[in-house]
Amino acid sequence: MRITRRSFLKYCTASAAALGLNPVMLQQLEAALASDGAPTVIWLHGSGCQGDSVSFLNLFLDAPAVGHVDTKDVLLNNINLAYHTVVMASAGDTAVTMALQGKRKGGYVLVCEGGVATAFGGKACRVMTIGGVEKTYQEMVLELGANALAVLSVGACASFGGIPRSIYPLPPLLPSEPSGPTGILSVEEALAAGGVTGPVIINIPGCPAHPDWVAWVVVQLILVLAGQATLPELDAYKRPTALYGGNVHENCPRNPNYHPTVKATTFGEDGKCLEDLGCRGPGAYADCPFRGWNKGPIPQLEDLSVDPANYTRANWCVDSNGLCFGCVEHDFPGGDFYA
Ligand code: SF4
Ligand code: SF4
Repeated sequence: MRITRRSFLKYCTASAAALGLNPVMLQQLEAALASDGAPTVIWLHGSGCQGDSVSFLNLFLDAPAVGHVDTKDVLLNNINLAYHTVVMASAGDTAVTMALQGKRKGGYVLVCEGGVATAFGGKACRVMTIGGVEKTYQEMVLELGANALAVLSVGACASFGGIPRSIYPLPPLLPSEPSGPTGILSVEEALAAGGVTGPVIINIPGCPAHPDWVAWVVVQLILVLAGQATLPELDAYKRPTALYGGNVHENCPRNPNYHPTVKATTFGEDGKCLEDLGCRGPGAYADCPFRGWNKGPIPQLEDLSVDPANYTRANWCVDSNGLCFGCVEHDFPGGDFYA
């Protein structure tokens, strides 16, 4: 099923609360989409698992008001996606040509998913071939980042290095040395190390990034490019404060300061605080307790008589008796995955 800009707008309208859109902003978004002003997006994949793409593309599955849709069409028809290795219909030279055309045209947004490998001349992570010459992710982040309007680092790996960077000592505050077996830097650090200082950089960390967080930033950029909004406020880690301003622990329904719960001593104790089991909510800043994850009905519980507009988020980490492991923080995951 192919969907139109009108359907994308319907999705945004149905998800207005989750995306923080008021009626005026929705009108502005409608005007921006109608004016062909939607940005060109070039989406590169580096050292990571591509889980952020999967998470973002799932956003449109079972979305209220548009039904079950082919998610790649949202991107191809509404955000003018010039290059994305997971959903592109083309491949090889044809796909690369589209990325380079987007670069020549200018005025594009570069989305980076995955950390930047710098060891071995960056050759641990090669992303495309141009004129018979293999190009590394590191080279393409610099080449495309230099002329981008904005660079979005989607996910923990692009934002801070994530699991590919996992090794002791824990990464200090930016800027820092590359680490991990392939010498991983965050996208922000790689751009700075390569002398690229021009584009606005927005980090959207998470493992994976919540699809609403990515959609929220994309909608904000559409409004900014249409002259209808200013760039969102960012914290010291270049995360939008509207999404990452609240503390998970303070807003957790199991917080013993607000609720007289005893702390759990083993997994599976419903409703109890998980701090003694290693929960990192006290050091994590994101809106997960309010936003929730896993949009739509849980498949085996799906009741087709229920209006899809009433579906709510199924869960979030703590609600499912799992730990918050601080996946939005610069020191995630901590420890050495390669030991
Ligand atoms: S479960 Fe985690 S986030 Fe919730 S109150 Fe306990 S320590 Fe805080
Ligand atoms: S609750 Fe914690 S681990 Fe779960 S998504 Fe939010 S920040 Fe990440």
